[in-house]
Amino acid sequence: MNKNSSNIMALAPHTSNKRETVCIFGTGDFGRALGHKMIQSGYPVVYGSRSTQISNLIPKDAEVLSHAEAAQKAAIIIIAIQRQHYNFLTPLAEVLHGKVLVDISNNLKLNQYPESNAEYLAQLLPGTKVVKAFNTVSAWALQSGTLDASRQVFVCGDDVEAKQMVMNIVRALGLTPLDKGSLLAAQEIENYPLQLFPMWKFPIFLSLGLTTFFFFYCLALDIIYTYIYEHRNFSFFIAITIPNRICPVIALILLALVYLPGVLAAIIQLYRGTKYRRFPDWLDKWMLCRKQLGLIALAFASLHVLYTLVSPLRAFVSWRTGKGIISQALNNKTEPLNNTNAWLSDSYLALGILGYFLFVLLGITSLPSVSNNVNWREFRFVQSKLGYLALILCTAHTLVYGGKWFLSPSAYKWYLPNIYMLSLVVPCVVLVVKFVLIFPCVDKPLTQIRQGWERNPKYSE
Ligand code: NAP
Repeated sequence: MNKNSSNIMALAPHTSNKRETVCIFGTGDFGRALGHKMIQSGYPVVYGSRSTQISNLIPKDAEVLSHAEAAQKAAIIIIAIQRQHYNFLTPLAEVLHGKVLVDISNNLKLNQYPESNAEYLAQLLPGTKVVKAFNTVSAWALQSGTLDASRQVFVCGDDVEAKQMVMNIVRALGLTPLDKGSLLAAQEIENYPLQLFPMWKFPIFLSLGLTTFFFFYCLALDIIYTYIYEHRNFSFFIAITIPNRICPVIALILLALVYLPGVLAAIIQLYRGTKYRRFPDWLDKWMLCRKQLGLIALAFASLHVLYTLVSPLRAFVSWRTGKGIISQALNNKTEPLNNTNAWLSDSYLALGILGYFLFVLLGITSLPSVSNNVNWREFRFVQSKLGYLALILCTAHTLVYGGKWFLSPSAYKWYLPNIYMLSLVVPCVVLVVKFVLIFPCVDKPLTQIRQGWERNPKYSE
């Protein structure tokens, strides 16, 4: 027993003894939070500050010295000071020579300065090794134990060894370093915390725009039209009927928009006869937000499922069912089961269930924790093959739902088509073009282009 425990003791690293002193310039919010976390992780911390008086906010085991004295005690100095005060570092150039300076600063606006703060620091102190890190972690996240915030720390720098030293500290603090390359990446890293859901903007605005458009479309056709021509007040449709019409329509359109850019990219590549020319910017951006489009589509599809499930509980539905029964009783006539209708309604429901099941599968595999555990081929199989299958099933679900009314004049109030008809336009276009693209005479040249073949090679011998 004793032997075992002594073995374990021997194997356990004496981490606290091994850690090198880290210097932090600035005893502000971030400097204190980072210092606290470092001390917890076994790093001796020395602060460089304008005032060497120890306040009770400063971590208990830390030393506070002048900047020059503190810098001499460590090889790594974290600059927890706003960029506009960096000038005060110039007189310290000699003592900072050869040291690793970690720039953690952020700006108030995107691309606020012509160069990144880290590059500016490197220009001010050419004899130092500047590494950008920690700017995407907040002081609050460090204080709260980084449990409910992102643990990813972007790191970049021109000196590989210096970058490695900083990445080791990041790991020791229980965070995950992500090497973003040279100091040129600093501008992008500094812009990162200023962006608000960058990849979500287009999908969110698009779905809001579609929701507003279809809401007013349904309001006009289902409530105002009925009120004017049939003198019936169906304003309560706003609560469930209209949302349950809009949700599947938007889900289907957004799902089709996930696959449309891929189809457009294939057409562009076929037309150009090469894959070595950049796609237009709008197409690049569209491709990058396909996952977000798909997840919003899934949210709308899930709402459609919920609205449909509560349908039998609605007073309007019980009233309509009761009315049908009473009318049969009054006419003393039982309506026979219409087999075609029964088939249509069961097929429509079955297609919807299967389509939704695949939709959920697509959503689950797009989550990083799942996608990290499948290889590229498996991921493509689910997202592309099963994705198209989900699109086919959902399109068929809508077609079967409204198919028999396509030619009925009553489906065109004010000569306008019902919204499920509008929802079929984009998916049908995507599916028809995709169908053409898989023909061998089209697929073969496309595959060759994607493998690097060019119709008019630029550098032919
Ligand atoms: P802060 O609370 O305002 O602290 C900045 C510190 O800089 C001060 O406490 C002061 O330390 C020092 N300082 C101020 N004026 C100075 C001057 N003229 N000359 C020299 N030193 C001066 O700011 P902070 O929130 O800790 O942020 C510090 C840096 O971390 C900023 O670049 C910020 O963008 C970045 N950052 C902050 C967070 C966050 O959550 N707060 C997150 C990521 C990155 P002394 O009094 O000890 O000298």
